[in-house]
Amino acid sequence: MNCPYCGHSDCKVIDSRDVSQGIRRRRQCLSCGSRFTTYERLHPASLFVIKKDRRREEFDRNKLLTGIRKACEKRPLPTGTVDKLVDDIEADLYRLGRAEIPSAFIGDMVMERLKSLDHIAYIRFASVYREFADITTLKREVDTLLSAGAETPSSQLPLLSAEELGVIRDGRASRKRGRVKTRSRT
Ligand SMILES: [Zn+2]
Repeated sequence: MNCPYCGHSDCKVIDSRDVSQGIRRRRQCLSCGSRFTTYERLHPASLFVIKKDRRREEFDRNKLLTGIRKACEKRPLPTGTVDKLVDDIEADLYRLGRAEIPSAFIGDMVMERLKSLDHIAYIRFASVYREFADITTLKREVDTLLSAGAETPSSQLPLLSAEELGVIRDGRASRKRGRVKTRSRT
């Protein structure tokens, strides 16, 4: 470790502590006495994604981020949600300790998380990832989502209650809509 001030090659460690996912070391140059800090982080071995056509491609965090970001575009999600999601997935992937992971596995991980985050983002991602060929496939996915009785993610607008739907069927929706009550969750 060369001193960043004088270039001397010897230094001593004067303090060392664990920080998130690494070690922070405070060092002092044995020549000029300057102090500097180094961080040691575990660098994971490279991870390869097995594509549908069996080709291998190095795991690309940015690619994953772009795809999820697109699905979440204009959704009412707090800042940093998408980055956090990608961080979690990436960490889980490396934790598996495998050199190769099928792309379908990663896609399913994304879907699973989006499902509990935002249903619209989930459907958007699914329509690209599962390559919905037509509206029927899309409808089936939405039906599955609804029939699963999945808890409405907190970021979503509440669904209309049966009573409110009745109001809409009666043709008074336009006037009532502004006063739709938030469905209480139990
Ligand atoms: Zn120095």
